[in-house]
Amino acid sequence: MAIDQQLLDILACPVCQGDIKLTTDEKGLKCMSCSRVYPIKEDIPVMLSDEATIELERETKD
Ligand SMILES: [Zn+2]
Repeated sequence: MAIDQQLLDILACPVCQGDIKLTTDEKGLKCMSCSRVYPIKEDIPVMLSDEATIELERETKD
């Protein structure tokens, strides 16, 4: 999985502009502010509110 930190630093939640972090399973990017998890499809983060799920429980890497 090749989502690099520089990309994560650039990306922000399209809904609330919050910081996002890679989830521990590396299958999503989670917004730290609103808990939306954006899917990663074929190594491309899908930063669309329509695609996001709200997952309060999902852990993130740090
Ligand atoms: Zn957000």
